Amino acid sequence: MRLLSSKNSLRKYTLKKVNSNCPICDSREAIQMWAASCEQQASHFLSPLKDSEKYQELKNYIKFLQGTPYISINKCSICQFTYSYPYIAGDKKFYDLIFATSNNYPKERWEFSESISIIYNERLKNPKILEIGAGDGAFLKKILNKKITNQNNITAIEYSILGKSKIEKLGIKCFPIDIRAEENKLPFKKYDFICLFQVLEHLDDIHNLMNKLKLLLTKNGKILIAVPNEKIIEFNELNGALLDMPPNHVGRWSKISFKKFCEINNMLLVKHSVEPFSIKNAIFMIFSYRFLKRSQKNNTLEAFIRYKLNGKLSWFLTRLVVILDFMRSPRIIYKILFENKKLGGESQLVYISKR
Ligand SMILES: [Zn+2]
Repeated sequence: MRLLSSKNSLRKYTLKKVNSNCPICDSREAIQMWAASCEQQASHFLSPLKDSEKYQELKNYIKFLQGTPYISINKCSICQFTYSYPYIAGDKKFYDLIFATSNNYPKERWEFSESISIIYNERLKNPKILEIGAGDGAFLKKILNKKITNQNNITAIEYSILGKSKIEKLGIKCFPIDIRAEENKLPFKKYDFICLFQVLEHLDDIHNLMNKLKLLLTKNGKILIAVPNEKIIEFNELNGALLDMPPNHVGRWSKISFKKFCEINNMLLVKHSVEPFSIKNAIFMIFSYRFLKRSQKNNTLEAFIRYKLNGKLSWFLTRLVVILDFMRSPRIIYKILFENKKLGGESQLVYISKR
């Protein structure tokens, strides 16, 4: 990684002027935040200490997918969109390589309850809802529990076999399709609500996506999109925590980039909101991500604890090291208490309609 301190933490961004086309507004003016090699990208997702053969395969596959051994993270000077350059998202094979047999889907997210109140307040009788990237159906299950609509009016899109089977157990139809190419496979032509939670940041070809969403949306329909709060990602990256690594996340959205995205696609950004700050979540996230970041380097204590030890000893030492790091980092705690508070929580939610 360029411009890293000896502790391998990103202390500041490169901020070098570069030329690359912004995927949202097509401006060529951008600033480079950081760059990484495909070795560093692969280490972010899979340690060679865990499975060296699979690590090599992943590294080669990332290079093949991107068509280059280096990736640059650039921020558009016009719309503030931060994107990987080249802007190429991970595909099914990439995710098959980085996920073992199970994914951990959260049961509860801030944007779930926010979206439920937005949907509820529209007071539609049995609205048709499409969720793209539905995970294991945690959000849809809430929709059913609240009796907002019935199973037959909900459609889910999900690639993961485990997720799909859980969604189908709820009586909801689930399709493992790419909406940008196979929208005609859906059971309904139009939906009142289309939800994408923690999905858009993983995708490229975003204008094509918005075109398809527009076609699938009823006249007064709403699109609800939640993505990570870009200010928190920046805080993490600059304070020794995990980097927002492509080709998993390829786009970092902000209110300004959503505005530009809607404007270009002739849509209306009705509302933008940020998850409220939680001191417990902020501290837990930064210190566990700092541990994970350090474990990506093979010769660290963190890598040893994570990959060479197992069972209770690994569990205990992980917590001990995280607590020691916490006690030795008053500057970070100070920043969380006095700066992070203004930045908000992990997620941001936008609510988009037709003009
Ligand atoms: Zn732009």
